Amino acid sequence: MIMIRTLAAAVLTLALVRPAAALEAAAAKVDITPDLATEKVWLGGFGATGRRPEGVHDPLYARLLVLREGSQEVAVVAVDLLGFYRNDVQDLRRLSGFDRPDRALFLASTHTHSGPDTLGLWGPFIGVSGVNRAYHARLKGKIADALKVLEGQLRPVSARGGHGILDPRGLCRDSRDPQIIDPNLGVLRLVGRDGKAVATVINWSCHAEVIGRHNMLITADFPGPLCARVEEKTGGACVFLNGMIGGLMTPDSRAENFYEAQRIGASVADAALALKTVSAPARALALRFEKVLVPIENSRYRLLLPALTFGHHLYDAQDRELPNWKAWTLALREAVLGLDQDTEPWVESEVSLLDVGPARLLGVPGEAFPELAIGGYDGRYSFGRPVITPGNPNPPDLSKAPKAPYWRDLVKAPAPMLVGLTDDELGYFVPVYDFKASPHKIMLPRLPGNHYEETNSIGPSAAGIMNAAVARLVEEKK
Ligand SMILES: [Zn+2]
Repeated sequence: MIMIRTLAAAVLTLALVRPAAALEAAAAKVDITPDLATEKVWLGGFGATGRRPEGVHDPLYARLLVLREGSQEVAVVAVDLLGFYRNDVQDLRRLSGFDRPDRALFLASTHTHSGPDTLGLWGPFIGVSGVNRAYHARLKGKIADALKVLEGQLRPVSARGGHGILDPRGLCRDSRDPQIIDPNLGVLRLVGRDGKAVATVINWSCHAEVIGRHNMLITADFPGPLCARVEEKTGGACVFLNGMIGGLMTPDSRAENFYEAQRIGASVADAALALKTVSAPARALALRFEKVLVPIENSRYRLLLPALTFGHHLYDAQDRELPNWKAWTLALREAVLGLDQDTEPWVESEVSLLDVGPARLLGVPGEAFPELAIGGYDGRYSFGRPVITPGNPNPPDLSKAPKAPYWRDLVKAPAPMLVGLTDDELGYFVPVYDFKASPHKIMLPRLPGNHYEETNSIGPSAAGIMNAAVARLVEEKK
């Protein structure tokens, strides 16, 4: 009897200490550079119309990582593009089969300003799309095919993650008050049983626009040399995930040239690879989404509504989906009468939370002001500059700024990563106290001071909607 009891206890102990299913990974990059000989594209970014590329300085890639743990699979995709709309992400999920809770896909854009227009905002004239539909379809097909190939190459890995603060001076600066820069740098290293690197995921925040508006060559900007450095040093793949870049995080470069893109990319890569990493505590592999509906309050977005429906489904105030042709009548109505709260359209988007080993990734569908993620109104993240620049003609009233907890307070893990431009691109998420322009007269008259971001924001309600969704998602998945 005693022996039986001992045996039962041993079996029970074995069950408790049995390790969870091993984490497996496979990674690759696929070239997504348009073929300029056969694919007519416009470069997206800067201003209201596109630029015609004259050549390719360095290739654009989709960097892919497939993860499996037990019956759970997740694909992580980082594309060298300015942005990628939700409908396209959903298409990619269907095409690749990563469209279920146990096979889910997380996609982020690096936000290069020297890649093809994939958003329909940078054509030859204002209001005319610059998207090449054939390229756009080829891009999705190529990524989906590569993901299927990677599934056959999965192998066991160990995951180590770490994070630290990278002094942004000389790398990234803030072009708008309050001067608050998210200096967090995160790394996740996936290493095979043979000790060789399979993939390194790096998260850091800055606009990929070292190469400025006068450039006519396709380039991945600083994420290109960043990943090249990681590949060279580790021998494995690299996935760069851009972070909280609104408000506006722009390169602190000495000139708009490729040497500077190289310098910034390599500096960030070296700092990330030097971070101390740990393997525990680790969570089970999982990717969860929180669906959000966001009202289109910006009159400029409303007037350009037919371009937005290229990447989104529209809804009315009662959450009923609207047919695509309604975009034209709503845009016309906005131009003539103006839309009110009952008639304004909404779009569906999502916030996501990915756990992999010691890393937790929070994905938000646009360019969030860093202060939404880290606070910092007391100057702790201003790095030698005053929070409000002397002489600012229209400074933000910091007494009205949101209080803690901020997103980084909620995302707890050895390697917390806050990822922007994830699964969508809705523009800037401006904290409501700092949304100075009236959304209904958003372009004119221009306010004194720097208020560019309001013109490229879906509206003042978006930041609060994201805040609530992040809180709900993290609460569900403590
Ligand atoms: Zn931007």
